[in-house]
Amino acid sequence: MSVLEMTAVEKSYGNVKALDGVDLALGKSRFVGLLGPNGAGKSTLFQIISGLFVPDAGTVKLFGMTHGADGPAIRRRMGVVFQARSVDLDMTIRANLRFHGRLFGLGGRKLDARIDALAEQFDLTDLVKRPVRNLSGGQQRKVEIARALINDPDFLIMDEPSAGLDTPSRRALVADIRRLAAEQDVAILWATHLVDEVDDADDVVMLVKGKVVADGAPATLIKDAGAEDLTDAYAKLTGGATPERE
Ligand code: ADP
Repeated sequence: MSVLEMTAVEKSYGNVKALDGVDLALGKSRFVGLLGPNGAGKSTLFQIISGLFVPDAGTVKLFGMTHGADGPAIRRRMGVVFQARSVDLDMTIRANLRFHGRLFGLGGRKLDARIDALAEQFDLTDLVKRPVRNLSGGQQRKVEIARALINDPDFLIMDEPSAGLDTPSRRALVADIRRLAAEQDVAILWATHLVDEVDDADDVVMLVKGKVVADGAPATLIKDAGAEDLTDAYAKLTGGATPERE
């Protein structure tokens, strides 16, 4: 069953066309990188997938449903990590995760067990009683991701989740998410402007000026572009958009 299917999606802000006819299809258990330079339309795409924006034209289906008719059913099966922080800095990790779990109707022992499992998965077990403010940037991002996973979603979307992290924390985060995609039955869409974060994604979708310019397995994109590696393919396929690596 398809997780996400977008067809001919358009979105403008005044006369700026942020998305210009985007087609996108995602299956299950896939780690998909959404790669594009700043201003490509990645955040706009995320707002539409998460149901915050309605597109001007085109169709968006999640698990075969639409936000208009089935918003709550979609949200129960989705996790979203936005660029902006969504956890409370003065609350402990556990209190934050409890709060978000309750929003999904979870509670009691089941919720506590879920929090314990997520804390273990993200190496936060010894920190759950600490206020988020006292954690490192990398640990705070892990809390954001654990929050987004509290409802055991089938589809996790992440908008530049590594923004603001130092290189070791960024690498660790990418590794955590790759493991999640490989070991758990969750489809992941990871937006970034940094090529090395999606080097070994299952699929890479390249977005430039609101259009999908390439969509496929990294090895295929590299071969089709006659490129040496994904950075080179990105430069060629995006018509000279600056390839970015940290
Ligand atoms: P990305 O996330 O890839 O950096 P965005 O989706 O943020 O791209 O932006 C796509 C385009 O839409 C850019 O040209 C940006 O300046 C413009 N844009 C984004 N948000 C707004 C807004 N609220 N008002 C006007 N223009 C916007």
